[in-house]
Amino acid sequence: MNKSKVAIVKCDTYDEKDVQRAVEAGLDLLGGLALFVKPGEKIVMKPNVLVGSKPEKCVTTHPAVFKAVGRLLQGAGVNLYYGDSPSFGRPGFNLKRARLKQAGDELGIELADFDKGRAVSHSDSLLIKSFVIANGVLDSDGIVSLPKLKTHPLTRFTGAVKNQFGCIPGFLKSQYHVKLPDPYDFATMLVDLNTLIRPRLCVMDGVIAMEGNGPRSGRPRKMNVLLFSSDPIALDSTACRIIDLAPEIVTTSEPGEKAGLGTYHSENIEILGEEIESLVAHDFDVIRRAPMPGSAGRLSTFIKNRICERPRIDKAKCTNCGTCVKMCPVDPKAVDWHGGDKSKLPTHDYDRCIRCYCCQETCPEGAISVETPLLGKIYSRI
Ligand code: SF4
Ligand code: SF4
Repeated sequence: MNKSKVAIVKCDTYDEKDVQRAVEAGLDLLGGLALFVKPGEKIVMKPNVLVGSKPEKCVTTHPAVFKAVGRLLQGAGVNLYYGDSPSFGRPGFNLKRARLKQAGDELGIELADFDKGRAVSHSDSLLIKSFVIANGVLDSDGIVSLPKLKTHPLTRFTGAVKNQFGCIPGFLKSQYHVKLPDPYDFATMLVDLNTLIRPRLCVMDGVIAMEGNGPRSGRPRKMNVLLFSSDPIALDSTACRIIDLAPEIVTTSEPGEKAGLGTYHSENIEILGEEIESLVAHDFDVIRRAPMPGSAGRLSTFIKNRICERPRIDKAKCTNCGTCVKMCPVDPKAVDWHGGDKSKLPTHDYDRCIRCYCCQETCPEGAISVETPLLGKIYSRI
């Protein structure tokens, strides 16, 4: 069996020259861009633009990484586009706030259509037989995925596999949370999405990662690495090893291997460049427990509310902006001004809550975090 290759290159800053050198070194280690793209092909770069946010907040893929990869793809003769569908709002607006629109302008490349999409079937999937995919992705020959290394309460870690979720346009994304409230089903859907799209190459921005209350409200954490692979499962598992998170805990690992998307077993991964051991951050702030099976979907509400993690609003930080209410995908809403009094702060109704964390992910104030009830803490230690 051929091993999956993951290249790791140290990069201490977002200085454009340093990033360019590091990206060139990483792609050389993998054997060169010609292995992944051909001249004349229409290729879409897909950064992580969860929401439009300044690069220094570390929510989005840094423009320096975007530009470095873009320059090399242009040098390889591809017809280059870019885009992403954020959690909410139009792609163009969010890309501008993340300074990726400006980076795209500097490269002289255009936005692909991530506003609208079309249905495509996926008969070889594990779970989801049809997806609506952004036109920009469907009209391309392939995508190059540019994930950011960050924490996430649902999947524990968000990297190469989850980055393709932004290939589903607009609010259709949130409907997958409603249809698939079990975190393991949701992860299987992400794997299916990846086996449908099959990114040609993934380049992960881990120069300054995000720890703690990610993927939007965590703390920037210098990790000084860029990772490269055509295997998104191997790439994610390598990033997990660097942040001292067992790849088995990440919900996309097992279905990813089962679906043939890639491998998370270290014996099947060839590491090129830096050794993992020299980079490991044992104190990286990430949830190191696996999500409980059926933590939202199949557990009875009574048990769920006593042991499962849940979102919690910090009243001192909440500005009553209502974003969490707007983004909650369940009907009736699980976070709302219950009673209709908008002069008070929204509250969660945990009986309705499916623990999708769309509210936590999009809260602009970082006012929502994850808490574990006492019984859940005891259960997780058994
Ligand atoms: S999104 Fe955050 S700040 Fe806005 S109402 Fe909800 S908890 Fe408060
Ligand atoms: S309250 Fe938050 S975690 Fe619960 S269903 Fe709504 S968005 Fe998801």
